Amino acid sequence: MKIHEYQARELLRSYGIPVPPGRVITSVEDAAQAFKEAIGAAAGAKEVVIKAQVHAGGRGKAGFVKLVKSGEDAMTAARFMLTNRMKSPQTPPEGLEVKKLLVAAAVDIARRSAGGNEEFYLAITTDRKTRRNVLIASREGGVEIEQVAHERPDAIIKEPMHPLLGLQAHQARRIAFALGFTGKLVGQAADIMMKLAKLYVEKDCTLAEINPLVIAAAPAANGQPAGQQVLALDAKFNFDDNGLFRHADIQAMADPTEENPAEQRAQRFGLSYIALDGNIGCLVNGAGLAMATMDVIKLHGGEPANFLDVGGSASEEAVTEAFSIILSDPRVKGVLVNIFGGIMRCDVIAQGIVNAATKHKNPDGSLGFKVPLVVRLEGTNVEAGRALLTEARAKIPTMQPATDLADGAKKVCGAVG
Ligand code: GDP
Ligand code: MG
Repeated sequence: MKIHEYQARELLRSYGIPVPPGRVITSVEDAAQAFKEAIGAAAGAKEVVIKAQVHAGGRGKAGFVKLVKSGEDAMTAARFMLTNRMKSPQTPPEGLEVKKLLVAAAVDIARRSAGGNEEFYLAITTDRKTRRNVLIASREGGVEIEQVAHERPDAIIKEPMHPLLGLQAHQARRIAFALGFTGKLVGQAADIMMKLAKLYVEKDCTLAEINPLVIAAAPAANGQPAGQQVLALDAKFNFDDNGLFRHADIQAMADPTEENPAEQRAQRFGLSYIALDGNIGCLVNGAGLAMATMDVIKLHGGEPANFLDVGGSASEEAVTEAFSIILSDPRVKGVLVNIFGGIMRCDVIAQGIVNAATKHKNPDGSLGFKVPLVVRLEGTNVEAGRALLTEARAKIPTMQPATDLADGAKKVCGAVG
């Protein structure tokens, strides 16, 4: 599960990581007032930053993070963001609709002696290879981090953590020095790393990312001299769905409008469905078999359009729904059904296929399957299942049986060309 930046900031704040204040708005009209409030709340602030709240990064480059100097400009930026879809390498090709904006006094980011903002990258994730949580940090944070990681991997620090001890203070300080922090800022940066590591473990995250982490120039205020402070400006979190049951606070942050609608629909029917980029739809029972099916499709030169596990005890309705979900993806040019009946009965699947074929409505209004369908059935009640399909042949002219998985993969790859 993912959350919005404004929620991520809230979470960081609750762990004592310094984050600038901000407010969420949902309409263009609120932008001018929010601008005034933001300027009023931060001593010496001249600019306000308006940020689209969507479950994807790359907003800065797409024009969905804007610095503005007046209420009018705030409204123009808000209008642009609320009426255009945000498209970045992290969004689906059609982009994401923006419904909320974060408005905050712009932070005065310290500059580098060589020019440019001092922006750092800080993240924690789990490295499957070493089976440890790892802290990832870079001096070259900001909107170009992907390119930096690609072109200059040596600019990225990776620090594995002890499975029981977690991130230790000496590690955090060493990394803070390696990132170039000096003086009081070393302690601040190390403290943020320690708190982020704690948050990562306690909240069952799969990713906790701050980008950019900045050195903010704090103006003199309330008798305090001007100084510098390490601040988190943008944060992104992913949570392990399997751990969500023990985090009511995180669950409450879910925004269903941001989730893939097909994946949500599948969830309601107890189907595990993950949309992918290819053109061969897969309907399989069992996660392992689904993985194997995708592998074999790829082995024969095809690209799966989805992962779909109908589970061990799917009903006819769930199977019908599964077809409807697969075929709602316009990229799907063929479907491979691969069922190994154990608890799942092949005749239930077959009846589901027949129902789906009679009920499925195409975009042009016609009923039935237009795309080639390859079916491999094996296991419990296979004879009854095959008989049902043979009987229904006339209703499903695009269907062909497969003798085994390799045969099925070959046939479906051949059919989609
Ligand atoms: P992302 O592009 O989706 O990762 O969005 P970010 O929140 O990271 O913003 C992108 C970039 O905008 C940052 O890397 C900063 O360079 C800039 N930016 C964001 N907030 C501020 C701010 O308060 N002050 C200044 N000066 N720049 C900001
Ligand atoms: Mg960012």
